[in-house]
Amino acid sequence: MITFSEKEKELIENTKGTYSTRGAIDDLSALERKFGKEARERTEKEMEEMGYSMSKVKKTTLPVAHFIVLLLVQQKVLNLSDEDMREVGKESARTSFILKFASKLLVSLETLCKNTNVAWRKYYSSGELKVIEINKEEKRIVAELVDFVGHPAHCFHLEGYFEQMLFFVVGKDVTCREEACPLKNEGDVHRFVLTWE
Ligand SMILES: [Zn+2]
Repeated sequence: MITFSEKEKELIENTKGTYSTRGAIDDLSALERKFGKEARERTEKEMEEMGYSMSKVKKTTLPVAHFIVLLLVQQKVLNLSDEDMREVGKESARTSFILKFASKLLVSLETLCKNTNVAWRKYYSSGELKVIEINKEEKRIVAELVDFVGHPAHCFHLEGYFEQMLFFVVGKDVTCREEACPLKNEGDVHRFVLTWE
């Protein structure tokens, strides 16, 4: 069985709110598509043993902390790199039912940027996601996630997720990198810079 460090336990405990169960299931499906059925089964078995069963969660929501544990378990059990975590996030967004539906409505970049927190709220009951800068000429967007603890594994997951989300709108390959993170003592907000070709 894998273990969490004291610091990790603290981050998990301090991450409040709920997350959409649908989103967590999308993540497991994405994991299976990227790394195979066995990878998913090993992750779910480990979750079960640690007391975070995925089969016993409520249909609608689960604690965000439970989702953070899911990401951490897959990272540790499968020995995933940061880039792997990004890829699973991306794959998860690629097939997300909610996002597929939403992307049909999000016709312009402006609409997406105005509605980031509405989209965030479809999954998370805590934290707030807002776009603080749109530069169409330089093909660059800066978004901030405030009032959210999380874990570095979750930050990588988000980078991939945001890359895919913006891809739906601009139709070009997007790169998202977190420029500042409270978990690295870089201020109070998770700041993500997205650029595209
Ligand atoms: Zn972060």
